[in-house]
Amino acid sequence: MTEVLVYVDHVDGAVRKPTLELLALARRLGDPVALALGPGAQDTAVALAEHGVVRVLVTDAPEFADYLVVPKVDALQAAYERVSPAAVLMPSSGEGNEIAARLALRIGSGIVTDAIDVRPGDDGLVATQSAFAAAFTLTSRVTKGAPVITVKPNSAAAEAAPAAGAVEPLAVSFGESATGSRVTARTARESTGRPELTEAAIVVSGGRGLGDAVNFHVIEALADSLGAAVGASRAAVDAGWYPHSHQVGQTGKSVSPQLYIANGISGAIQHRAGMQTSKTIVAVNKDPDAPIFDLADFGVVGDLLQVVPQLTEEINAR
Ligand code: FAD
Repeated sequence: MTEVLVYVDHVDGAVRKPTLELLALARRLGDPVALALGPGAQDTAVALAEHGVVRVLVTDAPEFADYLVVPKVDALQAAYERVSPAAVLMPSSGEGNEIAARLALRIGSGIVTDAIDVRPGDDGLVATQSAFAAAFTLTSRVTKGAPVITVKPNSAAAEAAPAAGAVEPLAVSFGESATGSRVTARTARESTGRPELTEAAIVVSGGRGLGDAVNFHVIEALADSLGAAVGASRAAVDAGWYPHSHQVGQTGKSVSPQLYIANGISGAIQHRAGMQTSKTIVAVNKDPDAPIFDLADFGVVGDLLQVVPQLTEEINAR
């Protein structure tokens, strides 16, 4: 069977959810071979084997942590040359898309970024993207070389599928450009205990309709009752009510959760651009003509300061 190379996103050996989702897609296309690099690479093997990985290529070197992106591209290229895969899949993120683009250039292949699905087609793999506030679904096929495809979080459900997961060390020789950009400092963001916005299965967002920064506590309380991440519209962020790292939209983050709850958000095109691929959208807005209702699967017309606390209370009571 053909092999599909999957780049593993992990933190000290703990494999992140988007990679496990990616493996569910990869198994439709062939046998997944994983590349895990950096500290803890070897520790990813058990989780990867449980999700259908037949071989895990592992490599570690100080360059992966000390320099930006290029050493990872060098490792991916070495893995590509070892495996000769039918396709390379990566979790979509700022870094993932950059690594994918550099790899595609090096191996002379085509690239598709931010896919929401990948399937075998008659003439090769078909990747699906969602565009223009979900007004269009785009399918595309790479016509040159092994496709390099980045896939958005929450595009597939992670599923257990035991496989061998044999660990194989991978030797990587770094090119001259590997040490071109050094990491000078790392600052950890204060943890809220909530899931990461782009990976969360549920996102609860607040907009200008909140009226004041202090009212974000109703959004946080609903998020906590659902184990959700908190998002915000740009209007709320620009007003200084919530940090920019939580902004959803064209100039913020792109999310694709199972459930997106938009509270006091009108549904401007730039906001939609970041949440249009959510599986189920619920909107709470006091204006029955708010454009968000055109997109929502369920809507509540009402004052969010009354509706949202009632919802939270009801969920907490269950
Ligand atoms: P508004 O549009 O003011 O809507 C507030 C809503 O709250 C209204 O529908 C109102 O009926 C409702 N409301 C008011 N009070 C209540 C209440 N008590 N209970 C219930 N509902 C209530 N926006 C983003 O979100 N993300 C982006 O990344 C982004 N990028 C942009 C990039 C560019 C280049 C530009 C030009 C704009 C961008 N915007 C972005 C801004 C975008 O155009 C909108 O201005 C913004 O999304 C509006 O935010 P909002 O929906 O919170 O506010």
